[in-house]
Amino acid sequence: MKPKISWPKRPERLYSVSKAWTESASASSAHHALLPQVSSQKKPALAGLPTKSLLRSLLLTSVMASPLLNPSVALLKYVIDSNSPLLSPSKNPAMNYLLRMTIYNHFCAGTNEREVRDTVQGMKDLGFKGVILGYARESVAKVDGAESHVEEWKNPQAIGDRAVEEWKQGNLRTLKMVGEGDYINIKLTGAGPAAVDALARGDPVPPPHIEQAITEICEATSAQGSRFWIDAEQQIFQPAIDAWTIDLMRQFNRNGRVVVLNTVQAYLKSSTENIHRHLELAGQEGWALGIKLVRGAYIAHDIRSRIHDTKTDTDRNYNHILESLLSRRSPFQELKGTPFPDARLFVASHNAESVRRAYSISRHRILDGLPTIPLEMGQLQGMADEVSCGLLAEYQPDSSEKNSSSAVPASVFPKVFKCLAWGTTEECLHFLLRRAVENQSAMERTRDTASALREEVWRRFGWR
Ligand SMILES: Cc1cc2nc3c(=O)[nH]c(=O)nc-3n(C[C@H](O)[C@H](O)[C@H](O)COP(=O)(O)OP(=O)(O)OC[C@H]3O[C@@H](n4cnc5c(N)ncnc54)[C@H](O)[C@@H]3O)c2cc1C
Repeated sequence: MKPKISWPKRPERLYSVSKAWTESASASSAHHALLPQVSSQKKPALAGLPTKSLLRSLLLTSVMASPLLNPSVALLKYVIDSNSPLLSPSKNPAMNYLLRMTIYNHFCAGTNEREVRDTVQGMKDLGFKGVILGYARESVAKVDGAESHVEEWKNPQAIGDRAVEEWKQGNLRTLKMVGEGDYINIKLTGAGPAAVDALARGDPVPPPHIEQAITEICEATSAQGSRFWIDAEQQIFQPAIDAWTIDLMRQFNRNGRVVVLNTVQAYLKSSTENIHRHLELAGQEGWALGIKLVRGAYIAHDIRSRIHDTKTDTDRNYNHILESLLSRRSPFQELKGTPFPDARLFVASHNAESVRRAYSISRHRILDGLPTIPLEMGQLQGMADEVSCGLLAEYQPDSSEKNSSSAVPASVFPKVFKCLAWGTTEECLHFLLRRAVENQSAMERTRDTASALREEVWRRFGWR
């Protein structure tokens, strides 16, 4: 029988309704209902953004928060579906320029290693602890028309092998563009048709050639001192994604290192039980558990009955999981006869309330000497900058604090990451469309972002 989940009480000591918030928030904004009490803010949240990026972000976010978003999404879809060379960024330099100067530069890190490295450095200069980098190209088992490949069209095995090889090379190239402590993000279905079939069947282990490719990526990531996470996808793939990823954590998350993180989608009703299972396995077998916690991106295309009935339920479950893990407890039921394992939590969300709640709990537990686990947080490039930059502005140590003997431990400061995608304009088109669509369903948050950006522009140019 499943134990009943009792939602823990909100730790009153850690939270209070901020005056600024009660004055400015709309009562219907669930994700902003309560914010933790913050220390005196050192500088405005977006003060670090270069003026060029600030103005571009304001322009784009204002469009995304306006009725112009729907026609813009329709236009982007039209460009993606069109076969006209005039609309193809790889064939028409004017089209490429237009897309790059607008949405591409807002949401994407660059088309080649030099551009990506510059963007990564720019993020670190802003105070971000690091980046998560992903190759935006969608996996297609594509065979070019060259003579030597003609045979492969008749041979699905060869097409599959080629897709796996391209996927592996793409990930290894991505890895070269990040440094120690950074992440790359990996989508297992990206390895092509053989991976999709095995995942959909629920195979507990990958086919040998895919397993070999994954192992090569893991070994290279570990040797470089970087890390990676495996993205969560649709429910049909998730049991196998979990099994393959647990096996990787078993191999690579040893001796105090966490190289691999699995993703858990809190909108799934089974998510607390799933995390409990991960904790039990890690505790029993002695490896370290890495969890990236998301709400879940497939609500429109997945089995609805397995997803929490309302947004409020998903929010509550998300916060319950992060509070439990940060308190070294299972979110499902007590861990019986199993020690709580070495674990890490990555809060991947644009929801200001969840991100701040996670950081506040972590900070207070460290300062109060209470047991907790290391916390990292991250948002996508071009999304919710006021959340990421706000945390950095409020809590980053200044030079006097860094050198002071009474300085608070480094583990207390927020470790905020930006999640970046790279690829040519053409390769990034589907990724860009997803970002635009995501903004359609998060209009209220986009408006919050636009208003924070507008305020910063006003402040910077002395207009208020
Ligand atoms: C760095 C990063 C990495 C990510 N990686 C993944 C990944 O690997 N896999 C993945 O699936 N997603 C991933 N996402 C996307 C994520 O799952 C969310 O879709 C997205 O971040 C929006 O949720 P939010 O927490 O930012 O906040 P919010 O905007 O507050 O929450 C929106 C989310 O709430 C949930 N929701 C909305 N309406 C309802 C409803 N009626 N009933 C129940 N639930 C509802 C949905 O999950 C929706 O996406 C990632 C996001 C980030 C920032």
